[in-house]
Amino acid sequence: ALPLGDLTSDQMFGLADIARKYVGDNVRMTVEQNIVMRWVSNHDLPAIYRELTAIGLGAAGAGTIVDITTCPGTDTCKLGIASSRGLAGELRTRLAANNASLPEAVKGLRIKVSGCFNSCGQHHIADIGFFGNSRRSGSLKVPHFQLVLGGQWEENGGAFGMAVGAIPAKRVPEVLDVITRRYARERERNESFLNWTKRLGRQEIKTMLEPYTGLPAFETEPELFSDWGDSRVYSISDIGVGECAGEVVSLFSIEISHAESQHFDALLALDSTDFKQANERAFRSMLLAARALVRTRYPNVGNEPERIVEEFRTRFYDTELFFDKFAKGKFAQYFFDMYENPPTQNTREAAYRAIEEAQLFIEACHVCEARIGAESLTRIL
Ligand code: SF4
Repeated sequence: ALPLGDLTSDQMFGLADIARKYVGDNVRMTVEQNIVMRWVSNHDLPAIYRELTAIGLGAAGAGTIVDITTCPGTDTCKLGIASSRGLAGELRTRLAANNASLPEAVKGLRIKVSGCFNSCGQHHIADIGFFGNSRRSGSLKVPHFQLVLGGQWEENGGAFGMAVGAIPAKRVPEVLDVITRRYARERERNESFLNWTKRLGRQEIKTMLEPYTGLPAFETEPELFSDWGDSRVYSISDIGVGECAGEVVSLFSIEISHAESQHFDALLALDSTDFKQANERAFRSMLLAARALVRTRYPNVGNEPERIVEEFRTRFYDTELFFDKFAKGKFAQYFFDMYENPPTQNTREAAYRAIEEAQLFIEACHVCEARIGAESLTRIL
């Protein structure tokens, strides 16, 4: 396997020599960030292995759980919210150290990580996928990864996984350990990871994750307030918390958690094939997320959908405050479309799409609130 898809220039020259010598001067890159050498004769295998090992490319584990796919994330991508490469490197190190003792069923799983919801790391088609986001704890931001379970990397990406909860970045290795151990312990004979997650059900998965999702105060667990691969630790003095020390949990945090809870209920309705209710709850979760954002500017917006949509449009869409640099107002359009043209068909596909769009809209509300908060802080400082 090619760890995290990285190659040095020396390795590239060495690989070119090997390819020229043994496989007709030709190699192929794979979507899982590995390199395939085709038409290797059995006779040449030992020599190729020796020569690859000599240039540091002899690591085993391609196509197993240690072979993690990741996008560049915050290392080099301006859209990155969390360090996908930092997380993937940490997981790979830990998994490789325990590789010999991992159950066979766990060894065959795929992990894929993206630095944001844009899916360049293919998190949506992994057994266990993660995409970066952030949450607030008081006045501080905490890097998180949304956990996506049960995607299908086989059959040309046959099924997308479902987001089941946001985990603080530093707790992801622990959560991965809990999930894989439980899968190894409880799986039925030849039961795939996808089928196991379906059998477990969202409610049980949520219960399993609950001990890991809460955020303590900075003083209690400061390591949670920094990202993988970044030695900088957010500190109270760094962000000038003195100006807003009274705020332990912001109004936005409380209200957006209601939106996330509603979104989770939409997923439960989808699981129980109540597609009408899944659609309604997906829209309701968007409405609550929009309300959470509007209330940061206009606390008395009330509960009427028409008023919330109007205030959201005027204060965040028309002003482009909600706009992402690259996606622009795309996620707000999902919200407006669902309000103006609610799904007329209560099918699985329509409900699935509504839930996916609601997830993206809620994430975009988080990002917008964090961006506005950071800009306000910069002005204060
Ligand atoms: S998934 Fe996000 S962070 Fe990763 S490369 Fe794509 S846009 Fe950048």
